[in-house]
Amino acid sequence: MQAKTTLFAMAMFAMCIAVWAVEWKPATKEDGKQLLNHLLPLPHAIAINEKVVLNPEDISVKLRKGAGDVEKNGFSILTNLVNDRLGHVPSGNVFEIIVGVFDENGKLDGRPVENAEKLKALPNNDQAYLIQPIGRDTLIVTGNNEKGVYYGVRTLCQILTPVLNKDKIEMPLVKVEDWPDMAERGLWHGHGYEIAKELSALKINYVDYTIQPLPVKKSQKTGIAAISRHIVNDCYLNAINCVAMIYHLNFVLPPAYEQYPELAGKGDSALPAMNPRDRGTGAEHRCPCASEQDVLQNILAGWFEGMAAGGAREMTVWTTEFYAQCACENCVREGQLFLEVKALLAAWTKAREKYPDARLRIVISMRTADAQMAKVLAEIPADVKIARICYIGHQRNDPRDLFVDPQFDRFAGKGAWVSCYELPPMRNLKFLALPYKDFIASLMQRGWHGGDIILNTEDAKFNWESNRWNINALAEWSWNNKGRDIKSFATAYATINRYPEPEKFAQWAEIMAPIEYDLYGSGEPLMHGYWFGEIKRAIASGKRAQCWELGDGFFRYFPAPESFGEKISSCEKALAIAQALNMPELILETRLNICAIQAAKTANQLMNCLDKEPVDKKGLNECVRTFERLAKERVDIFDARQKMFSAELLPAFLVESAKAGRAAAVDFPKYLKSELGALLQ
Ligand SMILES: [Zn+2]
Repeated sequence: MQAKTTLFAMAMFAMCIAVWAVEWKPATKEDGKQLLNHLLPLPHAIAINEKVVLNPEDISVKLRKGAGDVEKNGFSILTNLVNDRLGHVPSGNVFEIIVGVFDENGKLDGRPVENAEKLKALPNNDQAYLIQPIGRDTLIVTGNNEKGVYYGVRTLCQILTPVLNKDKIEMPLVKVEDWPDMAERGLWHGHGYEIAKELSALKINYVDYTIQPLPVKKSQKTGIAAISRHIVNDCYLNAINCVAMIYHLNFVLPPAYEQYPELAGKGDSALPAMNPRDRGTGAEHRCPCASEQDVLQNILAGWFEGMAAGGAREMTVWTTEFYAQCACENCVREGQLFLEVKALLAAWTKAREKYPDARLRIVISMRTADAQMAKVLAEIPADVKIARICYIGHQRNDPRDLFVDPQFDRFAGKGAWVSCYELPPMRNLKFLALPYKDFIASLMQRGWHGGDIILNTEDAKFNWESNRWNINALAEWSWNNKGRDIKSFATAYATINRYPEPEKFAQWAEIMAPIEYDLYGSGEPLMHGYWFGEIKRAIASGKRAQCWELGDGFFRYFPAPESFGEKISSCEKALAIAQALNMPELILETRLNICAIQAAKTANQLMNCLDKEPVDKKGLNECVRTFERLAKERVDIFDARQKMFSAELLPAFLVESAKAGRAAAVDFPKYLKSELGALLQ
């Protein structure tokens, strides 16, 4: 009996050996295609000639000796994935994955790394990485910096996700050489750090963390900012720069004016000109009298020191929002923005006596005269970062206009570190894609270093769930701008997110992408108060303003009367695909776009009626009825969209603003009627 069992066991062992003899196979075209569809963002260079079929027990994973914290964290992401998929982390001796920064001799774990020197010459090489086989039994993930290794591991995890199976592993012997096109890729504002896990998987590397400065006490001479160290550190471990952020000086300083009355900006011009809604409500955001440099520098230095002591590696402050100017003689002579920046730089210099590694980023949202801005920019040292909106100016271009900011473009072109904090914001268009590709291409051409999306609520999880596509689009085209077109991006997105038919989804996306781009560039018809306001103004003046000329303004991407119908018929094709896929999210998005195009078409008809001599009253009545129908349709779509999210996920703020949005849509035809008044009789 004993002998029989042993024989049986030996036979089983022999069978296992037979079944699990390692096998190398050539990789097929289909293998390559499948592999790419699981990668987002797409690496710059990737090749796979061979794969090795392995018994899961035969693999092992290894981190280099002396690895840093970011590498260690990256490695733990890899071992967690292996553990999740296989139930444990095997320590076999047939195939090994080695992870880590290569040493000064270009070696990892004692083995020479091919192309190590080349990696150092790549753009943004501190984030660059290599994945490559050594022989046929080892795969290495390496870089010359911990961040690069982290990103390499992220790519490897995407490669392994579809092949790590308990019965066998078809390990691709893949060669990847990769780096980001744009140094900084981020989400601005809105608690992005709460979704650091999701963002870091996409190689997004910037978020910020708002600091509430404590009230300034005169006895302390300075104010103190509190910070949550673990948030900054968690992000750091995931190769994300979490920057400690203080809001606009004219939002955070007013409480200090009680203690330091001299710090309050003088005169009416010290109140921002662009947010009249706050006037008279007691919430006025008076800018500081920045000529009071000693007081201002002390307060700011105290905040900076507090942030650095709390673990912030980089801090950012927004200068005064909108246009405001203290009316005192010195502030007028020197300029508000110049004096604010001067105080920030001096405070930072002071804070660096204690915290020499602390970086500073200044947000300049204020628009000011070119000469004043030139004076400000001349003051900024090369190691200070600047964040700015990237589309102050506008340049006519086909097929779509370009955004420019001549002064900052020149500044960035000379090598200054400038990022744009306002890539197309995520609002109603949940599947906006192409503007990210174009905007980022344009930023890179102009020498800018970073691009961020503004999150629209402070609820990061909701932002992620409701704008996953937009965030993926940012991740894709800021890492590898020329790599994918809309169709292959959409296919990869759908594959990774396990959509039922990725190719069909990609067809839908390919039709919708240019239309959404055009709607975005047309002010999102029927969605914004600005659009309504301009219609009312046209009625009041009794003539078609330039912004309603076909091919211009709101109709920039509706160059001819038939443009409206052409776009609607494309949407109808997309709607049929969305319905066949039975995906409510896509159906609602398509309906919303049809609704917007019909609204634009109706606005054009309304202008045509006004243009007629005498005014076409019957036509105007029809336009009002169409707007009523479209308003109802829009409300239905928004209600249905809202129901797609659980009450728990849906932030109260958004529910409130949706109510306001509903009211505005429904009220618009009423306003329109009263504006048209006698013309409707
Ligand atoms: Zn002043």
